[in-house]
Amino acid sequence: MSPANFDFHCHSIVSDGLLPPEALALRAAANGVDLWALTDHDDLGGLAAARAAAEAAGMGFVDGVEISIEWQEMPIHIVGLGFAAADPVLAVGLDAIRTGRIERARRMGAALAAIGIPDVYEGALCFVTNPSLVSRAHFARYLVSIGIARDVPGVFQHYLSPGKPGYVDHRWATLAEAVGWIHGAGGVAVVAHPGRYKMSGKEMGKFLDDFKDLGGQGIEVASGSHSPDHMAHFARLARRYAFHASRGSDFHGPLESYADLGRLPPLPDDLKPVWRLFR
Ligand code: AMP
Ligand code: MN
Ligand code: MN
Ligand code: MN
Repeated sequence: MSPANFDFHCHSIVSDGLLPPEALALRAAANGVDLWALTDHDDLGGLAAARAAAEAAGMGFVDGVEISIEWQEMPIHIVGLGFAAADPVLAVGLDAIRTGRIERARRMGAALAAIGIPDVYEGALCFVTNPSLVSRAHFARYLVSIGIARDVPGVFQHYLSPGKPGYVDHRWATLAEAVGWIHGAGGVAVVAHPGRYKMSGKEMGKFLDDFKDLGGQGIEVASGSHSPDHMAHFARLARRYAFHASRGSDFHGPLESYADLGRLPPLPDDLKPVWRLFR
């Protein structure tokens, strides 16, 4: 049977989400999701618990991950789906990204100290739920807790986005590495939330050309980060590139996300949904 409501993008406490995998599974099922993927940043540690909880709740489950990369010095996210979670090359690659995050977080702390906000690295660690995965979201939560901004989006706007004082450049994995790890493990690579990237149309075209040349197969068309205009635009690009279309809330937690699990518009009927590659 075709899934009526698939959601292939969200985060648990294994990365920078606020709920454990089991609670996400229950919430997804309660919201009517019938095929679900957990896609923590750069870590597969939640997949076994998520799969067990999904199956207990009567939902289909696909293993997922959201890999942090850079392409032409821009930070980009690639979702991997349906891979073998025990693949050793994927594990080593993700481990290297997580290690790099710690050094980056220390530099973020130093950059914020330089504008008079001390000890933010140490403070952010109090919000970290997986000692090997520190994200800007943890910095944002700490900065809200000490009254630097009213909410998490406000912290990003003034402190943690490119060009703001707490943002530091970082060497992530390359596009070729991330797509190669996903394919090596038998999975499908999907461009995450393309509407979020500050790219010109020409840059997006070049990026999608590169992604396609590497064997990338999918693009998120419905996303918690997408406006209706984004959705129409990336549906056109999915057609032009013959990509499969994905749908993902990018849910991180109640009160912190633009879309709840499964609460997204349906994909246009003529697009090939990415779940077809798994069924
Ligand atoms: P990082 O992977 O450490 O660069 O952090 C990226 C994470 O920060 C995203 O996955 C979101 O959880 C969060 N984030 C990024 N931009 C924003 C924003 N404008 N508002 C709220 N959260 C954001
Ligand atoms: Mn996140
Ligand atoms: Mn992302
Ligand atoms: Mn995400």
